[in-house]
Amino acid sequence: MNILMTAAETAPIAKAGGLGDMVFSLSKVLRSEGHDVRIILPLYRSIRPKLNGADKEILRFMVKYREKSRRVTIRSWKIEGIPLYLVDCKHYYDREGIYGPSADSGYDDNLERFILLCHSAMKLIEKDIWIPDIIHAHDWHAALLPALLYQRSMIKPDSPKIKSLLTVHNMAFQGEAPMDDFALTGLNTELFPRENIKFYGRLNLLKLGIIYSDKLTAVSPTYREETLTDEINGAGLNDTLSSRGDDYSGILNGIDHEYWSPNEDKHLPFILKSDWTEFKASNKQAMIDELKLSGGIEKPLIGVVSRLSWQKGIDLLFECVPKILKDANLVVLGSGNKKYEDRLSGLAGENADSMFFDAAFNEPLAHRIYAASDMFLIPSRYEPCGLTQMIALRYGSIPIVHSVGGLADTIIDYNEDADNGNGFAFKDFNKFSLIDKITAALEFFRDQDSWNILLKRANKSDFSWNRSAKRYIKIYNDLTGAN
Ligand code: ADP
Repeated sequence: MNILMTAAETAPIAKAGGLGDMVFSLSKVLRSEGHDVRIILPLYRSIRPKLNGADKEILRFMVKYREKSRRVTIRSWKIEGIPLYLVDCKHYYDREGIYGPSADSGYDDNLERFILLCHSAMKLIEKDIWIPDIIHAHDWHAALLPALLYQRSMIKPDSPKIKSLLTVHNMAFQGEAPMDDFALTGLNTELFPRENIKFYGRLNLLKLGIIYSDKLTAVSPTYREETLTDEINGAGLNDTLSSRGDDYSGILNGIDHEYWSPNEDKHLPFILKSDWTEFKASNKQAMIDELKLSGGIEKPLIGVVSRLSWQKGIDLLFECVPKILKDANLVVLGSGNKKYEDRLSGLAGENADSMFFDAAFNEPLAHRIYAASDMFLIPSRYEPCGLTQMIALRYGSIPIVHSVGGLADTIIDYNEDADNGNGFAFKDFNKFSLIDKITAALEFFRDQDSWNILLKRANKSDFSWNRSAKRYIKIYNDLTGAN
């Protein structure tokens, strides 16, 4: 089957978070199952130096947005055997970052930037460059595509049928704009009733995608439920999602076990040979030396790798720092909200021997934190899926999480279920609940025999794509009638 993944990110070349990981690792698994999966994404400035002249120009066209014409070239390239279509438009993409110049800011013309991505995917089809059976669109950046496909099927009913699947990674981002911007979409107003386009008087691309996609997924079963029933998670579109009934399902993301592999991770000072205790101790010692932390390897080390946003519960983390630093070292890597960055820098400055903070996006350091930490903190307010808890388990760092969304689907609280527990999970989002769980984890850590039981269980957790990829294949098959 031919599947065109359309997204703003793909690891390892353009990643700001879990979306990039998911798009790439799912594509890899689907290709290994024999499907012809290709990814289309913008040619961001950071990708250009990696091309090394190995890209091929396959299509040129012009677009006109807001009365200005722009030249667009689509280039083909490959990464780890996966064919990519890179949308090259210097005006829109030859800039710093993916969404904005920093993790805290988005470009004012992001609507046009990602509408162009959708129009480029349609051009591949119109110009007969490559015809997918399925367009798998991710988040609002690609959510216009289902509506464009619907329009195509109405205008050209005899053209080959292309089905669409929209995966929602985070309902909070919807691609909203003033209604005047509707003209940019290329949709014909007569085909689209106003109530399908508008949300609180504004254009809403995610809503369009929810209504016009053939099927929909959320990135975990619990998040699917939450988006239907909870105002924050549904971000106002709960009823629109409900109207899709069984077309909307929840499939847990997986992680790429080849990439996140403690046995051969090139970013680690020490890889896992066979002894977990040795693996953890050597990486932890290396981090203590690198960051000049106090206390030696007996002192617990708590790690955080996260976007610094309201969603991630960073404000709750602040309230727990004094408690954590009484008994443990804390290493935080994350960028985003400037106020959060400043606060964390301040705390790290005041407690330099027990806390380290780096306000960067730093892939190698992230790997070292997973390997060196004993516990991994994820106090998210809401969490559509979350990959860091899965990665942490794979590297023997025990997650302490707020039990919501994908965190609830992956982490079983040890205190509640000692036979299956693989971490520590709190239900009420407040500092007392979080501190309780941190205290429980730290106490448990003192008994190294018990801790080793948890480590062995972490080691056995399997969050690879094996199971979830089959569920995506079933949806593709249902859509194309291949079953
Ligand atoms: P989200 O997509 O909401 O940011 P996820 O848990 O789904 O959260 O995925 C986060 C991904 O981004 C993981 O691969 C994590 O290691 C990575 N990541 C997050 N922040 C950083 C950072 N500052 N530096 C390096 N990697 C990071």
